[in-house]
Amino acid sequence: MNREEFHVQVEGLWKRFGHRVVLRNVSFHVARGETVAIIGPSGAGKSTLLRCLNGLCPFDAGIVRIGPHVLRPGKRPAPFATLRLIRQRLGMVFQDFQLFPHLTALQNIIEAPIHVNQMPRKEAERRALALLARVGMADRGDAYPRELSGGQKQRVAIARALAMEPFGLLCDEITSALDPELKAEVLAVLEDLRRDGMTLILVTHELAFAQRVADRVIVLADGEIIEDGPPHQVFAAPEHPRTSRFLEQVA
Ligand code: ADP
Ligand code: MG
Repeated sequence: MNREEFHVQVEGLWKRFGHRVVLRNVSFHVARGETVAIIGPSGAGKSTLLRCLNGLCPFDAGIVRIGPHVLRPGKRPAPFATLRLIRQRLGMVFQDFQLFPHLTALQNIIEAPIHVNQMPRKEAERRALALLARVGMADRGDAYPRELSGGQKQRVAIARALAMEPFGLLCDEITSALDPELKAEVLAVLEDLRRDGMTLILVTHELAFAQRVADRVIVLADGEIIEDGPPHQVFAAPEHPRTSRFLEQVA
């Protein structure tokens, strides 16, 4: 897939865990270069939805398109080679960083380019240093995760995702574990990526950030999309009474 083809299309997605329906008939589209914030109460299905988008979680009905690639219902959403291509171009960053604790920041970043993409080590290192600089961590490549603050760890995790040259990033509450001043440095990196044309799908509780930066805000409640619109509409004039209640609770 090339950059021009990249987009995310979800149509009629259903997901159950046992008898519990977690996603019901979820449909939305994210165009290339768009920033979409997904908000909603805990347990609404936000993390499950993100995991369905890059094939980490099988689903029961519906279809997901990532550019020209298709994920289908069933145990195996796509052949392994397709999943690899999708995960390369649609990276994911997690709340708890998920860095390899026994590897330095630099080693964390070069791991996948070397072992998944068979990139020569020297080139992977050269590019990793540039990525560390990009996230404001130029001088910390030799640090182990335990030696870094939460904000620094998260910026390394973003650099690691960027090492696969993704067109889009899925971010699951990546600032939720951080103190306010550390949140700001991670959010600044996201804004920089957005300016550069990265497609961003952000599950977040940072409503002020979503309001300022997102092109669209999607509200998920009980597995259903109850709002999908520009931030000024969703925050100022929501269509669903549940949205108002949710916004009051988190404000
Ligand atoms: P959110 O990210 O919006 O808080 P999640 O997607 O994590 O919501 O979870 C949605 C619902 O699915 C919750 O009720 C949760 O308990 C349930 N759930 C999530 N993962 C699993 C799993 N692996 N097995 C069973 N239930 C799960
Ligand atoms: Mg979650």
